[in-house]
Amino acid sequence: EHNLQMIQPDFDKYPDGLVPAIVQDAGTREVLMLGYMNEAALRATEAGPYVTFYSRSRQELWTKGATSGHYLHRQALLLDCDSDCILVMALPEGPVCHTGAATCFGAANTPASFLPALEAVISDRIANPEANSYVAGLYRKGINKIAQKVGEEAVELVIEAKDQDEALFKGEAADLLFHYLILLQAKGLRLQDIEQVLEARHRKPAVTG
Ligand code: AMP
Ligand code: ZN
Ligand code: ZN
Ligand code: ZN
Repeated sequence: EHNLQMIQPDFDKYPDGLVPAIVQDAGTREVLMLGYMNEAALRATEAGPYVTFYSRSRQELWTKGATSGHYLHRQALLLDCDSDCILVMALPEGPVCHTGAATCFGAANTPASFLPALEAVISDRIANPEANSYVAGLYRKGINKIAQKVGEEAVELVIEAKDQDEALFKGEAADLLFHYLILLQAKGLRLQDIEQVLEARHRKPAVTG
């Protein structure tokens, strides 16, 4: 549960007192949907765990997922620069759009990176091992075997780097990244943890004024 600070949007800016609320996937960062909140909807959302809107068609509080079961788990809430729009960061339980689509903005609305989705698949294979799963099989052999596999793929990448065959090079680069992700998970880590290390190294002193 997030340590949530209450926000105070400018409800009076709108004749109906309804502030637009953009919902973003807290994991993939995809834009999921647009809803509207009055003060009661906002406070219900802050209380959590689910995101609640005000339904303009039904003219009542609407906890997204109440009938479909596809709730939005509220993470963070942000206000825009002039406090007339809310950004809701949430984790969806299922498809967000009433059409059954993952998001309300169609197939062109793709996540910035496929890697978090791949990490979720790896995590699932480790948690629910099946007989024919490569990831589950490798994971069972232990950390030394996984690390050795990363080393082998790195060597294969080095060999292909000397060659002119781009397809082979890309294939080995993918192999290395895939096994690197498995090694991270075997150490209880995600790519995000390593990104934080890189970001901290990169960060410059804050500019003031
Ligand atoms: P739900 O809250 O997911 O159980 O859906 C209940 C009803 O809310 C649906 O039948 C739609 O009429 C409406 N609805 C659900 N999702 C959306 C959405 N993303 N945008 C607008 N209306 C929605
Ligand atoms: Zn604004
Ligand atoms: Zn929709
Ligand atoms: Zn390889």
